[in-house]
Amino acid sequence: MFDSLSDKLDSALHVLKGHGQITEVNVAETLKEVRRALVDADVNYKIAKEFTNTVKEKALGQNVLTALKPGQMMVKLVKDELTQLMGGEAEGINLSGNPSVILMSGLQGSGKTTFSGKLANYLKTKKSKNPLLVACDVYRPAAINQLHVVGEQIGVEVYSDEGNQDPVAISKAAIAHAKSNGNNVVIIDTAGRLAIDEAMMTEIANIHQAIEPQETLFVVDSMTGQDAVNTAKAFNERLNFDGVILTKLDGDTRGGAAISIKSVVNKPIKFIGTGEKMDAIDVFYPSRMADRILG
Ligand code: GDP
Repeated sequence: MFDSLSDKLDSALHVLKGHGQITEVNVAETLKEVRRALVDADVNYKIAKEFTNTVKEKALGQNVLTALKPGQMMVKLVKDELTQLMGGEAEGINLSGNPSVILMSGLQGSGKTTFSGKLANYLKTKKSKNPLLVACDVYRPAAINQLHVVGEQIGVEVYSDEGNQDPVAISKAAIAHAKSNGNNVVIIDTAGRLAIDEAMMTEIANIHQAIEPQETLFVVDSMTGQDAVNTAKAFNERLNFDGVILTKLDGDTRGGAAISIKSVVNKPIKFIGTGEKMDAIDVFYPSRMADRILG
């Protein structure tokens, strides 16, 4: 069993206290533990370092050195800072349009189609919306099928146009269909590739420009570690997306990608995916994620 970070910090500072004065150097040593924990949780090293530097200054400013339980105080400081770094309060999604159009982006395998279904189900059951799912992957008939299977599971209509090779035309037709059909939310599932490529970026940028969605979401697999950050950066440069969806948090990752992505693109993480089933979706709470990352 590993000690929790809180225990580690507490005993580190207590041992030091027994040997005379606690100094700035000792605090720095202690923060090395924090940095190690962050890097173990997949946080980018540079970001972890910047983070602990900020915490160090705050710790010295707040008399952590003379506190009764310096370890606990330090952990609280670290947790509060992490929470703030990941966005503070949870953010919702913009449903002000009529219909509200939500464009999904991300690499193939990130969990886009699954999350499109989860979001439709969430909006239907929790927000009393009447969503329409749209299959825009014109390259993989299997992806269109997959969305139909998802739609059937949750009782949500799926719009598709097999054979049509123009995702902009399909999206526009789907929005027109939603208007005449009483759907107040349109969720557009787009084609992804296994890696970032120019054709994919141009295609989704064209859809984005043509339909001007209320909300553009970037879906990323939390298990992909550092790659997640590079992918987020590339998509954000082209789409200036509104929020991030972190999937597969039911796996054994600590979820450090959340911190790295937020630091690099400065966009809120809005939801997390916690399983393959349609109800495995949660609003993202920065403080819960901070707990998970710190262990
Ligand atoms: P897409 O290519 O981006 O549309 O990705 P899919 O939605 O097809 O998902 C790829 C795989 O990841 C599928 O096997 C999904 O069942 C699985 N998946 C998606 N989201 C999650 C999640 O939150 N947790 C787990 N464990 N698996 C997920």
